[in-house]
Order: sequence, then C-alpha cells, then structure tokens
Amino acid sequence: MITARDLSKVYGKTTVLRNISFDLDEGRILGIIGHNGAGKTTLLKILAGLIEPSGGQLAINGKNALNNPDGIRQVIGYLPEESRLYETMRVNEYLTFFGEIYGMDRSSIRARSRELLDWLALEDNGKKIGEFSKGMKRKAAIARSLIHDPSILIYDEATSGLDPMTSRHIIDLLRDLRSRKKTIVLSAHNLYQVEAICDQILILRRGERVALGTISELREMFGSVYYTVFFTIGDPERIRGIGDFSRDGGYFRVNAPSVGEMNRITQEIASAGGAVERVESHYPSLEEMLVKIGA
Ligand code: ADP
Repeated sequence: MITARDLSKVYGKTTVLRNISFDLDEGRILGIIGHNGAGKTTLLKILAGLIEPSGGQLAINGKNALNNPDGIRQVIGYLPEESRLYETMRVNEYLTFFGEIYGMDRSSIRARSRELLDWLALEDNGKKIGEFSKGMKRKAAIARSLIHDPSILIYDEATSGLDPMTSRHIIDLLRDLRSRKKTIVLSAHNLYQVEAICDQILILRRGERVALGTISELREMFGSVYYTVFFTIGDPERIRGIGDFSRDGGYFRVNAPSVGEMNRITQEIASAGGAVERVESHYPSLEEMLVKIGA
C-alpha cells in the first residue's frame, strides 16, 4: 500500500515534480504516463527511496518511508529504466550479489533464484549478462527486483524496447504478480499496455498531476466519446435530418456525439423505413488523451 501526499522535487530553481498525491492499495497496479520530461522517473525514484523529495509525505505499507529509507528498501523492488552495469556477471552471480545486499543467506538466495528463473523462463546458460539479448537482460533485472520478495514493485519502463512476444510475456508476469498481492507502480511508453493492465492511471505534465483515475474515469474526464451508427435505407433523401452521413461499403454511416443524439438518429432512420445494422462506440485512447493535454 502506498500513500503519497504532495510529493515535490526541486533541482536548483526548477521544480520537476509539484504536489503529487495518490493512494494505491495492495494488489493494485498504478501506471504513470506523460511526455518525456514529465517527471515519471523522478517520481518512481522517490517512491523507491532512491532520491529524497523536496517536500511532501510518503507512507509505504502504513509506515513513514521518508525517515526510514533503508527499512523501506527491503520491501521495495525497483527496476530502473536501463542499467548497463553488471554486464560482466553471470545471472546467478548477479542475483547472489543483490540477495546479499538484502541480507539473505546463500541457500535462500539459491532457492529463490531458481524459482525466479523458472518463473521468468530465463535459462541460466552460463553466459555473462552483457551477452544476453535485450529481453533476457530485462528478465534478469526483473529477477533482481524480486530476489528479496518485496511487496511493492516500482518498474520504470518494464517493456520498453522489447519485441512484442517478450513484452507480452512480461505483461503476463505483472498480472501474475498482482494476483499474488504485489502492489505495482510502473511507467510505460506503450500506452495500450498501460490501458490493458493498470487499475489506476496517473497522468503527469511538466511535473504536475493532470489526472488520476481508472481508465473509464479518465475517458469521462477527457470526454469525446462518440458513436457511429451504420444503417441501410432504400431512399437516403428521406433522412436529411440526421446530419452528414456517408457511404461505407454496403452501409451508410453517421456519427453521433451523445447517446441522446444516437437514439434520435436511430429512430429517424427506422421511421424513414431504414434499418440500423450496428452502432460502434469510440473512446479516446490514452494516446489521444496525451496528445490532447500537450507537452
Ligand atoms: P520522465 O521520466 O517523465 O521523462 P524525468 O523524471 O526523468 O522525466 O525528468 C523530469 C525533469 O527533471 C526533466 O526536465 C529532467 O531534465 C529533470 N531532471 C531529472 N533529474 C535531474 C537532476 N538530477 N538534476 C536536474 N534536473 C533533473
């Protein structure tokens, strides 16, 4: 569980994060999205205890996280956006190195590593991490973030730059982690993935919170839901009252900006002897929302 209140970060005279607040329950996924430079990585690092906020409060699992960063790091698994370090290690050495940092003994590290490599379908082929494919490196970093079995996961761009198969595998793994009651905060460039797996979405713009909610709440906030009615009619001249319509394959189509307007149009089509074939709803995607808020 995470409770963030008015988190801010100032570098010199520049405020890169301003009064960010949210609550996240156990077993939930929060997605943080925004254009480059919006403050996503800064916020994730504050949550992970890697940088101190300039102001605000943060509680992790009900405990003040700001006066006890070492204690908090034990319950957090952090996946940095990219790490070029440790390329000369083999995956087992890498996991042992981090397990020891968390104070685990050798035999628990061995057991936990085996379990994680199995779960990630990551073979320890004896190669150095530097020789791994991009997807394998990412999985090794995920294994590292989970070695000490933390309850909170902070993942910066978990799937960026990966091929679709590997991305999809990682998304499935995140779902699995959620079902094991892990609390996850992630940032992602792939907004379709954010839509697909996040319970809550936080949109940042230049360090400020633009919106926070479920995907359906954000859709309502950003409006612009509309409907397209597909229909057939013998004499198109009889339905001039429904506004501009056009031919689309074997059908005509017309857009309606609201449910009320959609009902009025379908009634008019029916009373003019036409038949409504289907109605499609269009919701703004996260991508359209980001375009709308601007950089
Ligand atoms: P995002 O992850 O959304 O791309 P970041 O959190 O990396 O955004 O960066 C937000 C802003 O903070 C950017 O303008 C960046 O240049 C600035 N910034 C990040 N880290 C530092 C730092 N250590 N010193 C000064 N400015 C920084």
